Amino acid sequence: MNATITLLPGDGIGPEIVAEARRVLEAVAKRHEHTFTFHEGLIGGCAIDAHETALPEETLGLCLSADAVLLGAVGGPRWSDPKAAVRPEQGLLALRKAMGVFANLRPVQVLDALVDASPLRPERVRGVDILIVRELTGGLYFGQPQGPEVIDGRRAAVDTLRYKEDEIRRVVQLAFDLARTRRKKLTSVDKANVLASSRLWREITHEIAAGYPDVECEDILVDACAMFLINRPADFDVIVTENMFGDILSDEASMITGSLGMLPSASLGLPGMPGLYEPIHGSAPDIAGQGIANPLATLLSSAMLLRSSLGLKKEAAHLEAAVNRVLGRGARTADIARSGEPVIGTRQMGQCVIDALSEV
Ligand code: NAD
Repeated sequence: MNATITLLPGDGIGPEIVAEARRVLEAVAKRHEHTFTFHEGLIGGCAIDAHETALPEETLGLCLSADAVLLGAVGGPRWSDPKAAVRPEQGLLALRKAMGVFANLRPVQVLDALVDASPLRPERVRGVDILIVRELTGGLYFGQPQGPEVIDGRRAAVDTLRYKEDEIRRVVQLAFDLARTRRKKLTSVDKANVLASSRLWREITHEIAAGYPDVECEDILVDACAMFLINRPADFDVIVTENMFGDILSDEASMITGSLGMLPSASLGLPGMPGLYEPIHGSAPDIAGQGIANPLATLLSSAMLLRSSLGLKKEAAHLEAAVNRVLGRGARTADIARSGEPVIGTRQMGQCVIDALSEV
């Protein structure tokens, strides 16, 4: 296969981890006889420095014309002045919108080798394998009106939570399709006891559920879900929810694994459109440039890219198996090592995965 992949290293540790992803993807391509062509673009703080915009036109063009996009991270203290006219995160939001990626997929898996990294007890987290599907382009973060206002001479502010039927339908349907490929259980999370938008969400979810009799479907209120993720996380398979609930619950769920540097994500739009793949962590400015960042979340995001955008299932599984093998042998970057355990750096971890790829 010939595929074009646009790399957006971004800021902080972004360039270090994306460099390893590129090396690993090149190794996968060589091993399976594919040709991947890479383009690189600026986004976030580095784009603001070079072009005074967080998403240059050229970058957007490279993303829309690619088969898939792999992003490191954006942001850092240098660009975090709240009064600044342009902020790095605007680049990411604009990119998601322009690519039409309405569903954010975050797998949360506790690997046996890393059970001890969780802040929860091992017996509670062993075997956890959740896929959170978050609606990404609607709801409270995009609804209008939004902004400050003055009411009776006093400061006020408004946000609007609105969902249209189609916005709910496409993401819930995708979640059902994904549940079908897994353990066939779907949990839809809402706040239907209080919010009208949640009642519509629930109504549409039930309509779609009728077409998936093989998938067990349950509704849970968001507050209950926040509790159940801690006291019985292994019970969940696919969770689907709206934008803000998904934002919060997916960060909570990521902590079940205890290791931010391990968690990948994919943002998908309509079939045939490029997907956007990125680790869930930020640009980690506190460790940038030191060569110690964990590249595995970005490598696992690359595996999702192979599977979901390029349809290369075997290659994705090969890469995931290589990561598991490396962890099983005890290779650890500083963020996932227990105290006293030897640690390796970003480049060495990338090399371990490349070596493991060539073993089977
Ligand atoms: P962060 O995720 O960057 O870092 C939190 C902590 O986790 C830090 O101690 C960091 O060193 C560590 N960490 C994160 N990724 C790691 C990795 N791969 N290996 C080892 N350790 C890792 O979150 P933050 O400090 O709150 O944010 C830093 C910057 O990143 C901010 O400017 C924020 O806006 C931005 N950010 C960007 C994204 C994105 O690009 N999608 C997401 C979140 C935060």
